[in-house]
Formats: sequence, structure tokens, C-alpha cells
Amino acid sequence: MLQPKSKSRAKALMASILVLLWLVSWPPVTQAWARKEHVFITRVAVKLLLDQASTPPALQALLREGLGNTDKIADLEKFVLEVEETLRLDAGLDLYSFRPDELVGLHSLVPGFDSTEEKMHYLDTDEFNPQRSRQVFAADGSNKVLARSLPRNPRDPRYKSAGFVTFRAEQCYKSLIASLKTNYSNEQVFLWLGYLSHYISDSYQPYHSTIDYQGFNCACNVAREPKHRFHGDMEGLLFRDTRAGAEALRLQFWQYFQAALNRDIYGASKKRLDPYLVSQSALLSGYDYLPMLCRAGEVALAQGEFDADAWFNYSEMVGKHKLTLLELKAARMAEASLVLNRLILQAWQEAQQKKGKGKQR
Ligand SMILES: [Zn+2]
Ligand SMILES: [Zn+2]
Repeated sequence: MLQPKSKSRAKALMASILVLLWLVSWPPVTQAWARKEHVFITRVAVKLLLDQASTPPALQALLREGLGNTDKIADLEKFVLEVEETLRLDAGLDLYSFRPDELVGLHSLVPGFDSTEEKMHYLDTDEFNPQRSRQVFAADGSNKVLARSLPRNPRDPRYKSAGFVTFRAEQCYKSLIASLKTNYSNEQVFLWLGYLSHYISDSYQPYHSTIDYQGFNCACNVAREPKHRFHGDMEGLLFRDTRAGAEALRLQFWQYFQAALNRDIYGASKKRLDPYLVSQSALLSGYDYLPMLCRAGEVALAQGEFDADAWFNYSEMVGKHKLTLLELKAARMAEASLVLNRLILQAWQEAQQKKGKGKQR
């Protein structure tokens, strides 16, 4: 048996090994859409709000202030085509759109969840499969859970390991309303607006819906050593790609993105959006594409090395439509912008209603 002193030394050694393993196995930079994707989704949502005649002028003025410089939304195509500048930090809405990713790795608790920032960006939905043996990702997607298997109770202990993105998105929405209602500082409004954008957008990244967030359970990865990490290929690769030909991919992305934006699936609906359910259904619809991502991975790795062109150009028939992986990325990001456009306007309206009620008292 170990003596008390060597026991505590062994404990300390064990703890440092665990920390080291955690650092090696979980690079914080791969936690979300990459920075430029988050900034882009937010700018598009803001542009939609500034272009719409129905957006109250006071909200438009606030959004312009949050942007800092409206040139940013005048030429979004140029922004998409250029390679991401990771060192350029911009204050206001741009900054708060990706700020949550910068806080991953810090271990102070996120108020309200008794958990750390790292757990705020995703939900491993497979962990809620009612059958214990099926709480893993199966490459055919067959372990997907139904919405009713995800209890709307953040105290359910399973969320501690599976992640809180649905609840965090809702919390940001409520905080945005509170900030708009009692506005002590526009900066606080920008923070909750950017954060809301961040977590809603993360919900649209298919790999944020599964415990197999790198695609290790895909057939092409099972026997491979070291395994290929697909997460970043879906997320930040397109905007960081410096190869010749990458700009053509980005141009194609931009065209897909605009087409998806024009199909505005939320345009006609007047129904109130529930931010929790928006995040949840984004995760569950994203999960449906994971088997396709496995098959795209197989094609991309066919020659051994990962082939980005093969990956992004991989296509499958979805209904009557030939869907490429590049179009899928564009469509998921466009939907995030559209939903965010609606949520921001709705938060503004709900804040005004609350203000009105306060005055009557
Ligand atoms: Zn994130
Ligand atoms: Zn991610």
C-alpha cells in the first residue's frame, strides 16, 4: 500500500497526466465553426435586418453600431473569397460571435450550468439513446435519438457529459432580451447577440450533434491509424485553404449560400421561434447528414492523403436534388443566418413588450 505522502504524489502525477491527455486529445480550436464562419453568419443576419423595411430603426441603429463599419456587409462576397486572417480581431459583434471559442480551455464555471465553457458548444445526442448499447455513433446513423429523448431539463445529469448547447442558446436569447429591455450598455447587447449567434450556429454544424465528433466511427477511419479528424474539414478548412483552386471552391460556396438564403424557409412564417427548439432541431437535422459525411470521407481519403476537392465536391442524391458537401455547408450556414435574423427581431419585440408592461405598473 502507498504511504500517504507518496499517495498524494501519485495522485498529483495522475492529475497532471490526465490534464496532459486532455490537452492532447481535445484541441480547443476545433470546438465550433471556425472564427470566420461565425463572423460571416452574424454579418449576414445583420445585413438581412438592415435590408428589411420591417426592422425598427432603433434596432437598425444599434446593429450598425455593433458592426462598427457597415462596409463589412457591403461586400460579403469579397469577405468569403479571401483567406481567413486569424489575427485580425475586431471589436463589437464580430468579436462576440467567436469569443465563446476563446474561452474554451478556461475552467471557471459558466453561471447557470455548473459546467465549463467547453461543454456549451455541442450536444452529443447519441448519449440519450434509450438503449445503453446504442449510445454511440453508428456509421449508418441508426442510433439517432428522437426529440422526445432529449429532456428539457438542464439538471438531467446526462447533459454534464453530453453538452449544453441547446440550453446555452436559450440562455443567451433570454439574456439578450433582458439587455435590450434594461439597456445599461450597448456593449452588453452586442455580447449577447454575438453569443446567441455563436451557439445557434454551432448547433447547425453536424459534428456538434454526436459523440463521434471527428468521424472516427466512419468505415474509412475504423482501421486507419492515426485516425483522420473530419471535424475541421467541415468547419474551418474552406476559409483557411491557401491551395490554388481554393478560391474557386469559395466562390461556389458563396453561390450556394446565396441560393439557400433566397429560399428563406422562415420568410412567410409568423410563428414564434423557440431558441431552445431551434438549436435542438438544428442538431437533429444535422445528425441526418453524418452518414453522408462518412461516405464523403471515404472518397476524400481514397488516395491515402485527405483530398479537399474530393471532399467538398462529393455529392449524393437527396430526394430529387444532387447535394454536394460544399452546398451542405453553405445551406447549414445560411439557415443559421436566417434563423438568427428572426431571433434577433423577435428578441427586440419581446423586450419592447416587457418595457411596455413595466410602464403600466
Ligand atoms: Zn463554439
Ligand atoms: Zn466544431
